[in-house]
Amino acid sequence: MPEILCTACGSVGETTSGACPRCGSRDLLPADAPSARRFIEARNARQSRPAEPAAPSPRAEATGKVLGRALGKLFGK
Ligand SMILES: [Zn+2]
Repeated sequence: MPEILCTACGSVGETTSGACPRCGSRDLLPADAPSARRFIEARNARQSRPAEPAAPSPRAEATGKVLGRALGKLFGK
């Protein structure tokens, strides 16, 4: 089955009855159509947030050190 994009709710998936499996809308586009790609890209652009650095917080780092020492004692290292 070709994948479809529902322009009503934005879900992408397979349809068996010609309607959106999520909301039942018939405003569907083939998911590989250029217009569907633009729709998905615009939606992703709206949803994406500026990337945050994945640095551990000082507290998490301290907890890790304590945990590491405790494990070190446990295993005699
Ligand atoms: Zn839908």
